[in-house]
Order: sequence, then structure tokens, then C-alpha cells
Amino acid sequence: MTMTMDAADLRRFVTTLFERTGATTDVAAEVADHLVMANLKGHDSHGVGMIPAYVANIRAGHLDVQAHGRLARDSGAVLLVDGEMGFGQMIGREATDLALDRVRSTGVVCVGVRNCHHLGRIGTYGELCGRAGYVSVHFVNVVGHAPQVSPFGGRDRRMTTNPFCCVVPREGHEPLVLDMATSAIALGKVRVAYMKGDSVPEGALVDHEGRPTTDPAVMYREPFGALGPFGGHKGYGLAVMCELLGGALAGEWTAQPGRPRVGTIVNHMLMFVLDPAAFGGLEGFRSEVEAMTEFLHSTTPAVGHDRVRVPGEPELETLALRSREGIPIDDNTWAGIRRAAGLAGLAESEIPV
Ligand code: NAD
Repeated sequence: MTMTMDAADLRRFVTTLFERTGATTDVAAEVADHLVMANLKGHDSHGVGMIPAYVANIRAGHLDVQAHGRLARDSGAVLLVDGEMGFGQMIGREATDLALDRVRSTGVVCVGVRNCHHLGRIGTYGELCGRAGYVSVHFVNVVGHAPQVSPFGGRDRRMTTNPFCCVVPREGHEPLVLDMATSAIALGKVRVAYMKGDSVPEGALVDHEGRPTTDPAVMYREPFGALGPFGGHKGYGLAVMCELLGGALAGEWTAQPGRPRVGTIVNHMLMFVLDPAAFGGLEGFRSEVEAMTEFLHSTTPAVGHDRVRVPGEPELETLALRSREGIPIDDNTWAGIRRAAGLAGLAESEIPV
């Protein structure tokens, strides 16, 4: 069964929930906005369904609700922000604001963001850059727990879902946003399928013996299988680069076994922000982006497709639909959120039914 929630009601409830865990209203609202926007854009894997994991990590002392980003190094076009294990949504926002402030004078800025709890939907930070007129590129690794993704050609887990994101601004339109896990599907989507009792698409999972399976339970019940990379050796290669640029360079913490795996979610991100004007031909860039976007849109659809989209458009379509009709949440996910709300100290009467 699935219920439908209004976005504004959900945002209010989630803000209260995180306030009760000890977060200030600003921080709680930032996290709530981010999670609800992920649902509105169709990424339920990175929406309010993450609340039980966040509350568990707060209670275990892995997530510091009071922490803010600390500028650990500043050498002009290179910044390093330490998240001090605070909410990734807050640290990511603060690091992006710093980058946007700096890029106005340097033309290009590279920010390492280390030691934050789950950054959530990486496109959130790229969209801030894109809407301000800048290009952004993000390499992210995911550590703090046992790996879940197998390398191309292997069946053991060695990495996690290492997201990659690249955003290009458009004049008068929302930016183009490529924002994706480098695993065959996002792990959260495996969780959503498991919660709903659905299967996952073929080609994403292998069981403990390395045989292909569509059963999401192999990720949650022993004997464990693994999630594979997207796009064979090429997706695997991109995942390795996210691990090394996000993890080794920005975070100094990769998924190798010498590092802690205490059951939390830690993200490290290397983010580049570029001012198109610094390359000289701002008008040329803008008109090429528009002409190319139009050229792509004019493609005749292949059988089984309604039209050709550019990256970021499916999210805008889902945003329009869910803003009108509400956010669907399955019963298992909602039961987990209700339990987490209780643990955070909310009374029954404060939890929407
Ligand atoms: P996805 O597969 O749904 O979409 C990936 C990209 O493809 C998006 O940019 C989307 O706009 C584009 N796209 C989808 N359909 C398209 C179409 N028909 N035409 C053109 N473009 C299309 O995304 P995903 O891989 O499931 O990732 C979901 C989210 O999970 C992302 O926001 C990512 O940042 C997040 N994530 C976060 C972490 C973390 O540790 N913080 C880890 C993994 C993933």
C-alpha cells in the first residue's frame, strides 16, 4: 500500500523531527527541504526514506546535528571544508556557498568537502551552481560502512554507489543536470524495491555466488550478494575515479579495509565550479548550449519512447507532477519513519498518520 503526502506538510513534520534530535531550526529545515525535494524530483531513494538511518546514526553518535562546515584550508582557488560529521545537507550547502562566493573572483574553484554524513542528492549542490550561472562537476565517494558494489568482473564488494554529477547552466531555463550513482542502480532504489516487495531490473545485482539476480534481498539478508557498476568497465572506471578524487584526494578516506566501517554513511566530495565567462566567450557558450539542447530535443523518438530529454528533465517533470498530486510513500517506508520519529521524541499526535 502507498499513501500520498503533501510536500509542505511533510517538510514541516521532518523539520520538527530533526529539531527534536537537537538540530537548530535552520539546520533541521535545510535537511527537511533537501529530503522532500529529493522525493519531489522522483528520487525516493534519497528522500524522507533516509530518516530512520539518520536517526540511528544520530543516536549512535555518528552524526553531529550541531556541526557546521569548517574551512580547513584556503589557497585561493582551492578550498577544503571539513564537515566534522555534521548533516551532509548543511555542509554541502555551506561548501557550495563558499565556492560560489570565491568563483566570482577566481573564475574556477575546486572545493574538497570531507567528513560529512550523507550528502544526499548531489544534484542539489550542482543545481545551486547552475542556477547562479556556473558549471559544476562533482566526484563523490561513500564510506563509513561495508562496501556494497562489486568492481567490473568481480563478485566481491569493494566500493559503494559513488555518485558523479555535472551541471551546465542555461539562460532562462533550469540547468542541465547529470546526477547519478555509478552503480547499476542507486542503492536506495534497491532499498525502495525491497521495502515494496518488488524486484529490481535485470543486470544490477549478483547473488553470493556471483549469479545474476533481480531479488533486492541479496543486499539485506545473508548470504550477501553485490550490486554491480553501471555500464560495465566504463561505469566501473568512473566509480574508481570518484573513489580516488572524492575519497583519496578530498577526504583522505577510501573504502579500503584499513579505514573504519562502523555502519554509518560518510561522503567525501571533490567539486569543481567554473565560470563560463572566464573562458571568454560567454555568449558563444550560451548559444551553443541552447542550439545543442534544441538539436537533442528534435530527435525522433525510438520505439517505446515518447520523446528525447536532456539530463535533469525527468526530475523537473516529476517535480511538477508531485507538487500537484503529492508524494507517494509506501507503508513500510512510512512505518520506519514513524518509528524513527518516536525515537527522536515526537508524540504519536505529532506524527501524521
Ligand atoms: P537516475 O538513474 O534516475 O538518473 C541519472 C541521470 O540520468 C539524471 O541526471 C537524470 O536526469 C538522467 N536521466 C534519467 N532518465 C533520462 C532520460 N530519459 N533522458 C535523459 N536523461 C535522463 O539516478 P540514480 O543513478 O538512481 O541516482 C539517484 C540519486 O542518488 C542522485 O541524485 C545521486 O546524487 C544520488 N546518490 C547519492 C549518493 C550519496 O552517497 N550521497 C550515492 C549514490 C547516489
